Amino acid sequence: MDDPDTNDIAGQLSRVRQEILLAERQYGRLPGSVNLLAVSKGHPVTSIREAIVGGQLQFGESYLQEARDKIQGLEVNGLLWHFIGPIQSNKTRDIARLFDWVHGVDRLKVAIRLSEQRPERLPPLNLCLQVNIDHEPSKRGIAPEELTELACEVEQLPCLRLRGLMAIPRQRARLEEQREGFAALRKAIEGLRLLGHELDTLSMGMSDDMRAAIAEGATIVRIGTAIFGPRPRK
Ligand SMILES: *Cc1c(COP(=O)(O)O)cnc(C)c1O
Repeated sequence: MDDPDTNDIAGQLSRVRQEILLAERQYGRLPGSVNLLAVSKGHPVTSIREAIVGGQLQFGESYLQEARDKIQGLEVNGLLWHFIGPIQSNKTRDIARLFDWVHGVDRLKVAIRLSEQRPERLPPLNLCLQVNIDHEPSKRGIAPEELTELACEVEQLPCLRLRGLMAIPRQRARLEEQREGFAALRKAIEGLRLLGHELDTLSMGMSDDMRAAIAEGATIVRIGTAIFGPRPRK
């Protein structure tokens, strides 16, 4: 199913880029304002190499051990790695050392550890706060009501750079319904900007709802399946 020989990753990548351009045009976004993050979790280094040949430099991973092996196995200059998975406190040291971005922060304790453990030789770690936009009990993310306080606290941390917000809204079938969840995240970032936070990133949209996310202002879409094909079962 995920045979890299039969999977045309460079071709899929250019199809996704084309869809992003079309959506930018359709929804009045500036061309190039939506960055494509290729989510390579569950896929081998050979697939990442194919994407690099296709011009992709930013990759998202969700599991630390898997990511560490890939990052260390790929000695290509100019790659940027985004950690998009759940963050356990005992994993922050390696995340702070290996990654350029972290998308899923929803607790001050984790942010403090990431800041303290960020190596001095590296620039500040880019951070998005994850928001539980639909108030789903089973989902990670901070409640929208608690966001302002967490954002203020995180901005005090010296080795982090708060860039914006991330969410994984409930799955919905229709574009108009998908847009509602993303619109809620957009309103949340607009609220923080009114309070003086300089934030430039809305990390939202996956393979099945990318267009809706772009319509509502996504600046990073996190796309796995549409580029790499289905993830092999572990
Ligand atoms: C796996 C994952 C994605 C990619 O999902 P696809 O449906 O394969 O595009 C995006 N964001 C997060 C947080 C993920 O865990």
